[in-house]
Amino acid sequence: MGRAGWDDEYDVVVAGSGAGAMAGALAAASGGLRTAVLEKTGLLGGTSAYSGSAIWLPGTRVQERAGLGDSTEGARTYLRALLGDAEEKRREAFLETAPELVDFLEKDPEIEFRFQAFPDYFDAPGRLDLGRSFVPLELPAERLGELAALVRPPVDRDRAGRGHSASKPLAQGRALIGRLLLAITATGAGDVRTRTALTDLIVEDGRVAGVAARTADGPVRLRARRGVLLAAGGFESSTALRAERGVPGGAGWTMAPEGANTGDAIEAAVRIGASTGLLDQAWFCPGLLTPDGRPAFTLGFRGGLIVDAAGRRFANESLPYDRMGRRMAAAEGPFHLVWDSRAGGLPAISVPPLRADEQLASGAWVRAGALPELAEMIGLPPDALIGTVERFNGFAAKGADEDFHRGEDAYDLYFSGGEPCVVPVDRPPYLAARVVLSDLGTKGGLRTDADARVLDGSGRHLPGLYAAGNTSASFTGPVYPGPGVPIGSAMAFAYRAVQDIRR
Ligand code: FAD
Repeated sequence: MGRAGWDDEYDVVVAGSGAGAMAGALAAASGGLRTAVLEKTGLLGGTSAYSGSAIWLPGTRVQERAGLGDSTEGARTYLRALLGDAEEKRREAFLETAPELVDFLEKDPEIEFRFQAFPDYFDAPGRLDLGRSFVPLELPAERLGELAALVRPPVDRDRAGRGHSASKPLAQGRALIGRLLLAITATGAGDVRTRTALTDLIVEDGRVAGVAARTADGPVRLRARRGVLLAAGGFESSTALRAERGVPGGAGWTMAPEGANTGDAIEAAVRIGASTGLLDQAWFCPGLLTPDGRPAFTLGFRGGLIVDAAGRRFANESLPYDRMGRRMAAAEGPFHLVWDSRAGGLPAISVPPLRADEQLASGAWVRAGALPELAEMIGLPPDALIGTVERFNGFAAKGADEDFHRGEDAYDLYFSGGEPCVVPVDRPPYLAARVVLSDLGTKGGLRTDADARVLDGSGRHLPGLYAAGNTSASFTGPVYPGPGVPIGSAMAFAYRAVQDIRR
């Protein structure tokens, strides 16, 4: 142990290793600051590694290359229409930072992005029907060498305790985390420490001076001369905190890596006087229950319908997933997806992908030759289900969902390839699967300012302390504006934190 009881000294200590944490660490280390990334688990990337890594950073060189005609002004119009002026300072900080952050990241030889169409989630002024988000290029595992084993694999492989596929490059969130890891490593100033969980913040002379962490070899105290950035996810995997704060869904139904994000960083900051906001909020989504009781994030419904406990539809199933999740939170479950055999498989996208034979063999999905039989298998009154399906089939015949307007929005039609997405459910055998209210992480947490500085109850910042990603209360409030906002905003505010640290 060194001077004043520190085990190690850094300029910047970053807790967590999702996209925000890693972008912040790269900004610090590439500027010559000695930086530590602390990751609680044995793998880097958290939920960010599971993600599709769509990144919603508007008005950047990526959209310009794609000839999108996106602009900061267009995105401002869109965000203002959705969010009003409540978070004007943080919204403006986000918009101002997006182009600069992408210039900074793409200057690194390890990092490159490409536009990927995925519509914005609301029909509001400034929306782009093909969206404005982008993804990192895939990353051959050989580029990472031994470091590949440190990056969290895709959901299905990770849940099964398997590593990356030997025959495929790292894609999506794995490519993003892998590329950031390569870039951090190349700086020579970044120290990535796995199995190191932040437990407490250490305050000296009124300033956050370092962190206490738990490691396999016992507790350590790490000094942070310039600042601590908390980007260690939300509290989606804590049953107790979810219940206390009223987050619908459940810790067993979140899509985050099991047991990883339990609100440690938020709690540590609260203990030294930080204030919090939006604590009952998450980035919600429907999840199909799989045989092990975990959900598969499901989006882009282009067939089938979802019914509530009474066997009735309650929403446009093709809504953007967070909006559908919020309809589920207001309705009464259990919920079931009911579909038929016309599509030849699940009429939606699921992450992880689900195989019908496995789901049916396990009993997670059920199949029947007729609707009354199917209704009984899922515990619904047959007449109610038959009535719902007949009404839905009538809408399909008319080409108009008079109850919930499914298929009228650009988002709905994007996933059905422009075809109608109200298609009859009339071709036996019929199938049903349990749908639960899942999430991609909570989005309430530490209150921060436009430079990601953590605020106390009087709105004063706590010197030396910053937060980004799901550790902080999102500037988007209860709204999920478009694909890639969680990761885009996490990266933007982590980057701003480091700019402030460097000033
Ligand atoms: P995480 O990425 O979860 O990182 C938090 C990390 O902190 C974890 O590794 C955790 O182990 C670690 N940690 C926790 N406690 C401690 C501690 N005490 N000390 C040290 N480390 C700690 N969002 C998008 O923007 N675009 C998408 O395309 C997208 N697709 C998605 C697809 C799927 C299948 C899923 C599941 C999510 C998707 N999301 C997407 C949502 C997005 O991935 C998350 O909301 C976001 O990545 C959260 O980032 P984060 O940094 O806050 O947390």
